[in-house]
Amino acid sequence: MGSSYSVICKDCGTKYQINEGRGFFFHKLRCDVCGREREVQFHDLGDLHLRFVKGLPGPYCLASMESDKKIQQEYPGESLTESRYHAEVEVLMEACKCGGNFRFKAPPRCPNCKSTKFDLDPNSGMIMYD
Ligand SMILES: [Zn+2]
Ligand SMILES: [Zn+2]
Repeated sequence: MGSSYSVICKDCGTKYQINEGRGFFFHKLRCDVCGREREVQFHDLGDLHLRFVKGLPGPYCLASMESDKKIQQEYPGESLTESRYHAEVEVLMEACKCGGNFRFKAPPRCPNCKSTKFDLDPNSGMIMYD
């Protein structure tokens, strides 16, 4: 479900790795200023995640299919749309050390110069994981 690839910064030439995708049991958010990544576990989100799962048309992913189905059938709370869920999770996240905020859709940034412009490293293929 995720992938990792090497890129080269267009502004300073630094090579770095970008990890995309979501995990089975956590979300990955990025700082909207420095690009630092932070993971948040579903179980730390408690009811918020249950309400999101309840609002889904099907299971969140195959690995959690059984428990997702149970939540959709049995969880008594109100369901959340994905965009509202994302907004609520972002509010819960502590601010980054740099003063930025962790967002679902913040772009990856060069760890050296914080540029968001990069080229794929032609010498390394994409690595799939999960
Ligand atoms: Zn930051
Ligand atoms: Zn750079």
